[in-house]
Amino acid sequence: RAKEDGRNGYQFFSAELTKVAIEHAVIDTALKGALEREEFALVYQPQFDLADRKLSGVEALLRWRHPELGDISPARFVPIAEQHGVILEIGRWVLLTACRQARAWHDAGLDFGRIAVNISGNQIRGAGFAETVHEVLLEADCEPRWIELEITESFVMRRLEHSVVQLNRIRELGVQIAIDDFGTGYSSLSYLKQLPIDKLKIDQSFVHDIPEDPNDMAIIASIIALGHALGQIIIAEGVEAEAQAEFLKTKHCDQVQGFLYGRPVSATEIAPLLLPFAAPKKTQHPIEA
Ligand code: C2E
Ligand code: MG
Ligand code: MG
Ligand code: MG
Repeated sequence: RAKEDGRNGYQFFSAELTKVAIEHAVIDTALKGALEREEFALVYQPQFDLADRKLSGVEALLRWRHPELGDISPARFVPIAEQHGVILEIGRWVLLTACRQARAWHDAGLDFGRIAVNISGNQIRGAGFAETVHEVLLEADCEPRWIELEITESFVMRRLEHSVVQLNRIRELGVQIAIDDFGTGYSSLSYLKQLPIDKLKIDQSFVHDIPEDPNDMAIIASIIALGHALGQIIIAEGVEAEAQAEFLKTKHCDQVQGFLYGRPVSATEIAPLLLPFAAPKKTQHPIEA
């Protein structure tokens, strides 16, 4: 294989490029009207408090089932949807669907904690994002405390002043803000003090090799210490092994999410994990003092 690549290096490369370009165009075309054709669905992955092992929330993850192309990963189609503005419509649908699900679970007497919703930077870019969030909450009759928005640091860093304004408005509504894939954005840490951030999600790439890799262990311990010092909740994503959870616990990580605890599943399938309501919730999740 290597020999072949070496001899035909250029051709191989250009064939790959063509393949990627065609795939891109196919997805781009298929994206148009996908919402109307009801090809999207949300699945939910549980998040747990490490200390008491109770469910603390669920993350809503987008799924696209195309009749001919099959299941397409959001990692592939979201970047394409972002290039053409379709992400705005899709993103609104995701938020509305999650908010309606929160209302439905609440009415069924199920305590899901919070639903975390992934937000594309393109959604925040417009001037009206906070208003859209408010509208959608009203439309779904959803309480703001049921929702958390996950945003990535690379976007907020690029548009810091704008993000501060939008996120402050959203936070004033009572919606929480989490930074997704924390530590992968090549960014300065100064935004942490300017943005209203409730939670940091340690990226799964740091979690993967603990407790073997001393560098990853040092980075994780530092993120937890930093976040706690700033009054934030820390959640680790991509937890697949008991040994990883044990390490996170010794470092006082607050919450965990990953295949060890549950894969993303439909709303119906996750319902048995949701707790029946006890007394009304008084405060947010406990943060280390
Ligand atoms: P993310 O928000 O960082 O989501 C975590 C991804 O890791 C999900 O992949 C999830 O299924 C996967 N995952 C969870 N636990 C584990 C684990 O233990 N091991 C491993 N190896 N993976 C795990 P998914 O659902 O394919 O989503 C990929 C990315 O697509 C998301 O990363 C997010 O950036 C984006 N995305 C998903 N849904 C939406 C959405 O509604 N809107 C936007 N804008 N982006 C979305
Ligand atoms: Mg996420
Ligand atoms: Mg993530
Ligand atoms: Mg990710």
